[in-house]
Amino acid sequence: MIWQKTIARSLNITGVGLHSGRPVSMSIHPAAANQGLKFIRTDLPDRPQVRAHFTRVVDTTRATTLAEGEATLATVEHLLSAFYGLGIDNAIVEVDGPEIPIMDGSAKPFVDLLMQADSSSLPWPRTYLVVHKTIEVSNGDGWMRVVPGQPRIMYAINFPHPLIRRQRYSVPLDSDHFRREIAPARTFGFLKEVQYLQSQGLARGGSLDNALVLDDSNVLNPGGLRFPEEFVRHKILDALGDLALLGLPILGRLEVSRGSHDLHQQFIQQLIHQEKAWRLWVPPLHNRTLRRTSQSPPLWQGAPA
Ligand SMILES: [Zn+2]
Repeated sequence: MIWQKTIARSLNITGVGLHSGRPVSMSIHPAAANQGLKFIRTDLPDRPQVRAHFTRVVDTTRATTLAEGEATLATVEHLLSAFYGLGIDNAIVEVDGPEIPIMDGSAKPFVDLLMQADSSSLPWPRTYLVVHKTIEVSNGDGWMRVVPGQPRIMYAINFPHPLIRRQRYSVPLDSDHFRREIAPARTFGFLKEVQYLQSQGLARGGSLDNALVLDDSNVLNPGGLRFPEEFVRHKILDALGDLALLGLPILGRLEVSRGSHDLHQQFIQQLIHQEKAWRLWVPPLHNRTLRRTSQSPPLWQGAPA
């Protein structure tokens, strides 16, 4: 894809906050090129902004939480995964509470919503981060790396549960594969853990409608699993949501074993610091014409950097 994308019109969605259990309303609006993905907390005075950027990450326990000034926003990763997976670079998300609604625990409701609006090309080229040397980070049992190659992600997990154990999944990084194979995979939790969290006043909105819940041997959701390896597919969903915080797509082969939100963020830090292992690349623009017109001049006509 040459051009940056946004959505063609505004969209609304409502749901429940996983931790608060309260209703959350969200509206997503088109944004200009180079704006990136931004959140606005409409429930706070002066409607503060929180940018979807790795420098704004303040917590990675169980979910990814962003903050800017006093404004925080939790559980951003499934929505960000939908943006990253569909290749939407710029959008403004207004939300009337401290967490993004959990919906069904996957990115599918967000993908379905974003697909309703179509995407719109902006008159500015995308910049890609092209990896030409392996970058790796490890943390206890887990590791994450990117190696030069076609855009793809492989993820492996190992949980001592009869329904999970070792799962491995690998998928090309493109919007069709994302929509079909990754977006519908739901988050998962263990019954004991959910009971503990609820005793601590957390996960109040958590139910079988928004997560796969496992007891010692089975999945408690009446409908069962959407895919045999739904667990590891969801880990890919989470990783892509966290990688969206880099602000530009990675061209390389990603591999993760026993990852977490924390490991995904450590990987981004490592990537940023290893400047010699990658370069920024803008696809060649000659002989390309813009499909949709707009007021701003394209980059090669001398627009400001
Ligand atoms: Zn998740």
